[in-house]
Amino acid sequence: MNEFLKARLKLTGWYLFIIMLVSSFFSLGIYQILTREMERGLRTQALRFIPRERFGFDETILAEVKQRIALNLILVNGGILLFSGFASYFLADKTLKPIEKAMEEQKRFVGDASHELKTPLTSLKTEIEVALRDKKLDLKDAKQLLISNLEEVDKMQSLADYLLLLSRYEDGSKKLDFKEVNLAEVARKAIEGLKCPAKERGIAIEVKLKDAAIRGNALSLIQLASILIDNAVKYNRRGGTVIVKTAKIGSRAILSVKDTGVGIKALDIPYIFNRFYRADSSRSKVNVDGYGLGLSIAKSIAHLHGGKIEVESEPAKGSTFSVTI
Ligand code: ADP
Repeated sequence: MNEFLKARLKLTGWYLFIIMLVSSFFSLGIYQILTREMERGLRTQALRFIPRERFGFDETILAEVKQRIALNLILVNGGILLFSGFASYFLADKTLKPIEKAMEEQKRFVGDASHELKTPLTSLKTEIEVALRDKKLDLKDAKQLLISNLEEVDKMQSLADYLLLLSRYEDGSKKLDFKEVNLAEVARKAIEGLKCPAKERGIAIEVKLKDAAIRGNALSLIQLASILIDNAVKYNRRGGTVIVKTAKIGSRAILSVKDTGVGIKALDIPYIFNRFYRADSSRSKVNVDGYGLGLSIAKSIAHLHGGKIEVESEPAKGSTFSVTI
């Protein structure tokens, strides 16, 4: 039997047990009160109308009434059992559904992560096996092989780093250390770290940074900005532009990253923040490295700051990601 069906039946049983326990106590109480009152009523009546020397009342009436009350209470309890059985089964499903969903997501996540790890591992293994079988392998070939191996190891390391970040930010029990942070400074630091890859691809990064102070965790906000700017560079065309803006509007601070890249199809937009989701364009056409984890991490960081992240995009024209905190 499916684990969740088992848990659902167990929970239904517990709900029913509690309901029936309460109902039985009530019924017992009602039975006691009713029969006592009945007996008292019959005695008073008998006292009033029957001479003292012949005092007494028909005990069979009392027994019959008691029996009828008991029968009615049993019927009512049967009804309660039937109704609460259905209701409990329904409620148990409602209680367990979010847990079932979270577990399914977890299973999918482990499956996806293993799949992503398998690709570089398989290519690493194949390269080493082929090299070991090659009797004429010289030092130059061996060095080439090690360079290629290192690339695969780098890929696995970056996946492990992403997974660690994700688990850190999605773990609700760990609170980040919040201080006064200026989003403009955050953006500057993120851009500093991405100047090289942008230069390599001939992409200009324009900045329009206005002071925007908020309470937050500087390190995680720099990670968030880096993810968005890195994507804006990765999914850009050669010689394209990335515009990074920060501003404060009322009590809200805004960071936006606009690019002139491949854009995202409307069909893909609802899914790009899901873990391991990569739009087809990034898998095939642009063919850039990635695991589809960056935006889920960015979203978790925005949520940890009580903020949100939104995207506007047009295929072949570009995208704008905005974080509002
Ligand atoms: P990764 O970049 O590693 O694939 P992300 O979670 O950062 O993972 O992004 C998920 C997907 O969203 C990407 O694969 C890509 O298809 C799409 N995407 C994200 N940012 C952009 C962007 N600036 N322009 C176009 N597509 C983007």
